[in-house]
Amino acid sequence: MALTRVSEILKMADEAHTSAIAFICIDYNTAYSVARAAEETNTPAIIMLLWEHNAKMNTMNMKGFAAMARELAQGVKVPIGVHLDHGYDYAEVFRAMNAGFNSVMIDGSAHPLEENIAITKKVTETAHLLGVDVEAELGHVGMAVDHDGDKSDFYTDPAIAERFCRETDCDYLTISIGNAHGVYVETPHLDIARLEEINAATDTPLVLHGGSGIPDEQLEVAFRKGINKFNLGTDFLAAYYQAILDYNASVAGDDNPYKMLDLPMYTQEKLVAFLKTRLALCHF
Ligand SMILES: [Zn+2]
Repeated sequence: MALTRVSEILKMADEAHTSAIAFICIDYNTAYSVARAAEETNTPAIIMLLWEHNAKMNTMNMKGFAAMARELAQGVKVPIGVHLDHGYDYAEVFRAMNAGFNSVMIDGSAHPLEENIAITKKVTETAHLLGVDVEAELGHVGMAVDHDGDKSDFYTDPAIAERFCRETDCDYLTISIGNAHGVYVETPHLDIARLEEINAATDTPLVLHGGSGIPDEQLEVAFRKGINKFNLGTDFLAAYYQAILDYNASVAGDDNPYKMLDLPMYTQEKLVAFLKTRLALCHF
């Protein structure tokens, strides 16, 4: 299977009443670890680049990331997708398609509904000609630090979901049901009834962002009730950061410059161990 369309992975997830996990990766260590953990657990997964990490923080360039992720995907037997997270305008997601991402997100959720529909539709028309899948967002997933997960006016309206998916022809849809990006101030409570209503209103696979900090019991329910793609970023970054801190502690006082070369494999081992705990949530 190797490099696989994200729409195909989500179809497999839907048929198994589970979710695939898309991990935000920032470099080779993170992307390699996702491919290896997926292979070792025989669980499909998605290597994902958050647009602003590339555009604003210079973690990697877009073409280099896509080429690296595609190569890693081709090197394993398990299905792996390559996705761009949160592109905000047509030009940016077009660049990502051109760079080799087989899936892109156009996030028009900050715009009024009709503008969100228009920009999403423009992206899907181009993407589908190129064989690229498109994720859209209806409602708005805000920031956990601002308590956005508690703001019900941000939540996805089930009554609009069917029309949005039909008119935009998006391949999967990000919804807002009490989730938010970043570190939650209090334990979030997903609006499962709303998820069920949205899932009943449309056949389009549904996506949950802001996955770090949602209790596993809630995730298990959400995966059964229609979430087929789950984005994880903050917890993965935290595992990476901790691994680097641990390595630094283990070599404290050692001024041998070649100790630098042991860092990648040290962090990869720790990341693979973390990723396996998250991939255990998937039941393909
Ligand atoms: Zn997001």
